[in-house]
Amino acid sequence: MKLTFYGGVSGVTGAKHLLEADNHHILMDCGVFQGSRKITREMNSQLPFEASKITAVILSHGHLDHCGSLPLLIKSGYKGRIYATAATRDVTAWILKDAAHIQQMDADYMNRHRIEGAELAQPLFNQDDVDEVISRFVEVPYVRLSGEWFQLAPGLRLKFYDAGHIMGSAVTVLEINNKGKIKRVAYTGDLGRSGTPLIPDPESIKDEVETLLLESTYGARQHRSLTEAVEKLRNIVNDIYQKGGKIIVPTFALGRTQELVYVLHQLTDSKKIPRLDIYVDSPLATNLTEVFAKHPETYDEESWEDFGKRGDLPLSFRNLTYTETREESKNLNHKPGPFIIISASGMCEAGRILHHLINNIEDERNIILITGFQAKHTLGRRLVEGAKNVRIFGQYFKVRARIEVLNEFSAHADSLALFDYAASVKNLKNIFLVHGEIEQASILQTNLRQYNANWQVFLPEVGQSFEV
Ligand SMILES: [Zn+2]
Repeated sequence: MKLTFYGGVSGVTGAKHLLEADNHHILMDCGVFQGSRKITREMNSQLPFEASKITAVILSHGHLDHCGSLPLLIKSGYKGRIYATAATRDVTAWILKDAAHIQQMDADYMNRHRIEGAELAQPLFNQDDVDEVISRFVEVPYVRLSGEWFQLAPGLRLKFYDAGHIMGSAVTVLEINNKGKIKRVAYTGDLGRSGTPLIPDPESIKDEVETLLLESTYGARQHRSLTEAVEKLRNIVNDIYQKGGKIIVPTFALGRTQELVYVLHQLTDSKKIPRLDIYVDSPLATNLTEVFAKHPETYDEESWEDFGKRGDLPLSFRNLTYTETREESKNLNHKPGPFIIISASGMCEAGRILHHLINNIEDERNIILITGFQAKHTLGRRLVEGAKNVRIFGQYFKVRARIEVLNEFSAHADSLALFDYAASVKNLKNIFLVHGEIEQASILQTNLRQYNANWQVFLPEVGQSFEV
């Protein structure tokens, strides 16, 4: 069998891993490259393989760097199905819809500012393309629910374990009959962090597997404890309550938003923080929270213990509002504190969060709470680095609000957890480290090699193929 890595390796996004056996050409994930518009536009306009030759697509989860090129795959001639959990299908529907909308707005903007004679900008895909993608999904339940393999085609079956990364995320084990020989290949997708609220811990693989594609985002980093993070959040909320200020939280619509809501709910119920108004002001976050409510099979034991048992829902409570209209969002501009606004985007690059920053950044009673990784050249990064003045929509603002960082709610496993994950797989021979920057992945590679000299540990490059 041949394994080729077309993206999502050596530090780049755009996960696309192709496994070619006798009769099967299986594509694991089909994500977009993310980064500056100029470079990625070109990379995301074409596929590096023939779409019509693919026989099946397995989707690990609904993040855009894993699912964003599915519309292109179908437009390029893919005729088959997309296998994923039901929650991943529903997440993907919203994520792609949002991406199509952003692309349309981008294209409109570029066309308005077009130099005469230049070509009209077109979105990479539209809502019709998204609908077509969603119609191709085949729902595969986690093996903990079904108790058995899912037969995908003659000589090909699969199992989904919970990856604990975001709602619906799965670790795939593929079993292939290749010229009469049974082979197993596993792909972690993105692995979550153990102990986070709402989402279950990653499940280890119980089958014997020869080849593992292991993510390595934090291959060289260890996370601090979640208890510390919750304590810090508690202090921040109490502080702001006393001052009558506001907490503005730029966050990602999926994952971090729901985890924060969960923890704030717990802190409120246990009277560790006062019952103050909390607003989730992001249409995408609200839609994804509804998907959460539809899929209780994706919750962890802890949420049942904390909320389910007493008939309570983790993501809704009395003083929490999901704003719907632009009007409701605007009304927050005039409302006196104390209260909390959770809004997208996570790196302060677009969306409603910019309006909330404009309104609140110059008031020293307020706190801007940063909860996730901030890429270079983003407004979020400048705030974390202590900028005194920032530009938003062409206007300058003085940063008088306090900037706090809470990185512990990470949706990725750390170096120790990744190491343990590989070590728990029986009869493993080959490990391919994917989804990590080279500095992170190479340290994990060294550690894995030291642990077991019989393992072959590879850092594949884009376009590289291996016989497995
Ligand atoms: Zn992800």
